[in-house]
Amino acid sequence: MLEAIHLTKKFGELVAVNDLSFKVDENQIFGIAGPNGAGKSTVYNLITGFYPFDGKLLFNGKNIAGKKPHQIAKMGIARTFQVPRTFPSLTVEEALSVGSRFGDGNGFDSEYVDFLLHFLNFEEERSCNTGALDLLGKKKLMMGAALATRPKLLMLDEPMAGSNAHEIQELMDFIRRINEEMGVTIIIIEHFMKVLTELTETLLIIESGAKIASGDPEDVTNDKQVVECYLGD
Ligand code: ADP
Ligand code: MG
Repeated sequence: MLEAIHLTKKFGELVAVNDLSFKVDENQIFGIAGPNGAGKSTVYNLITGFYPFDGKLLFNGKNIAGKKPHQIAKMGIARTFQVPRTFPSLTVEEALSVGSRFGDGNGFDSEYVDFLLHFLNFEEERSCNTGALDLLGKKKLMMGAALATRPKLLMLDEPMAGSNAHEIQELMDFIRRINEEMGVTIIIIEHFMKVLTELTETLLIIESGAKIASGDPEDVTNDKQVVECYLGD
């Protein structure tokens, strides 16, 4: 579904993403991990059209290099941000409705918003201001707003950050349901190894913008170089 080929991004002297190649298959949950500053969020920024870059990015066989963020959203790629961003004065229902106006170009669909309210288990909160939601609620809403654009690929940037064990479990179950019940392919950047080994089918480890390991999450997390890279973090 998504193929990065020799992806490279420099910010001045700094090589944030360094000759990175990887493939994400349709319907899988694909993990990306690595120390702070490794270039993980930058990879998302390249895929979503925020910066020009060197190399190729194929989405369903089409090169998406040079496309604008709104064009990429229309093609079916959505993301969340590390820090939950919501419009605090909108109600939960309004926030999801805004998302449904973007994306695949089919416009506002109240039935789909109702479906999302149900899927998120937000029926009781539908008229609450998003600012009143707790952290878990805000995180689910942010994913819901991304889903409102009807993406084929959803990219999550450290969705578990700041969450306790119970919230992590809920978010993991939720992400799995997005993948299995909605048929959305997922890329997840995460620090928690337990989350990566339980949730992902393929795991890519990057350090200083370059790949140091990729493959089965159990094998990758036992890799000596990967262990050293984490201990050095
Ligand atoms: P990660 O998400 O893995 O923690 P980032 O992708 O955010 O890392 O950052 C990778 C490197 O690129 C860091 O050194 C960061 O400071 C740098 N960087 C990211 N975005 C920019 C930017 N817009 N301008 C300059 N440097 C940036
Ligand atoms: Mg980051």
